[in-house]
Amino acid sequence: MTLEAATRERQMTADIIDGKGYAAGLGDRITQQVSVFAGHTGRAPGLAVVLVGSDPASEVYVRSKGRTARQLGMESFEHVLPEDTTQEDLLALVDRLNTDETVDGILVQLPLPRHLDSLAVIKAIDPAKDVDGLHPVNAGYLASGLPGLVSCTPLGCLMLLKSSLGSLAGLDAIVVGRSILVGKPMAQLLLAENCTVTMAHSRTRDLAGKIGQADIVVAAVGSAEMIKGDWIKPGATVIDVGTSRVIRDGAKRLVGDVDFASAATRARAITPVPGGVGPMTIMSLMHNTLLAAFRRADLAAPELW
Ligand code: NAP
Repeated sequence: MTLEAATRERQMTADIIDGKGYAAGLGDRITQQVSVFAGHTGRAPGLAVVLVGSDPASEVYVRSKGRTARQLGMESFEHVLPEDTTQEDLLALVDRLNTDETVDGILVQLPLPRHLDSLAVIKAIDPAKDVDGLHPVNAGYLASGLPGLVSCTPLGCLMLLKSSLGSLAGLDAIVVGRSILVGKPMAQLLLAENCTVTMAHSRTRDLAGKIGQADIVVAAVGSAEMIKGDWIKPGATVIDVGTSRVIRDGAKRLVGDVDFASAATRARAITPVPGGVGPMTIMSLMHNTLLAAFRRADLAAPELW
């Protein structure tokens, strides 16, 4: 590399992909469509959130989902059940919500207490109301290229990628992490956008080399700053899903899977942590609730992104 090229590379600073700003704009479009829905049906879309137990982080998530739904003009139904709720009682509640016509979306906050079977609960949700997109029927629709409800975090990542890049067709993408919640649906979404997709995980060999080939990197591991800037292909677009709490200079900080400072000197665009993917996850949940409401009412679903 010439001195001039090396200097240029060192100075390159990525655009910041503003998830918070994008989510706010999406929220405005959802609010408009909530009014359209209410005009047709005489009611607002309804989101039911179920929390079992009193895990402080889950309580914060549930409160924030309810608050956001109400801010957008939706109906929010919050069901807080005691820690010792039985599987039978939880399934009975899901059953009631499935048949409640005012409920368009059902979200059971995970993780559930250890004595409860999460998969059985997810499978009990009506797939048409599964706004978390975790039901195997919705995962199957996604893999088959059929319309369904898509897991919120990867859906939000795709919105950000398209807002930053436009068409993704033909690009080489790597998804690091293969969870049902993030990695697997993310890879399916990218494939549907005609990317050539590599899925990496804890057994992947030469992760740095594979990341170095990718035009798009989506990191969903949960390991603080494990992806170094010099692994990133110059000009790549980086979406950092990971969130880890670390102590830096004596202060608590939230960081992603990507070493932001060094990656920003190589990437063309990158999401920050916080303020990138996080705000998109909750707004994608609102998007899915609106979509579910329109579909259940046999109305043409609006294009929101
Ligand atoms: P997860 O279920 O724990 O999955 C982590 C994945 O990372 C697994 O597939 C694992 O591989 C892979 N992995 C672990 N170590 C690795 C390594 N050294 N190299 C490559 N891959 C490795 O986590 P998740 O639910 O997908 O979440 C991932 C991260 O995203 C977490 O930090 C979570 O907090 C965050 N998250 C953020 C949001 C948001 O809204 N901001 C939403 C969801 C998740 P194996 O399958 O081989 O074990």
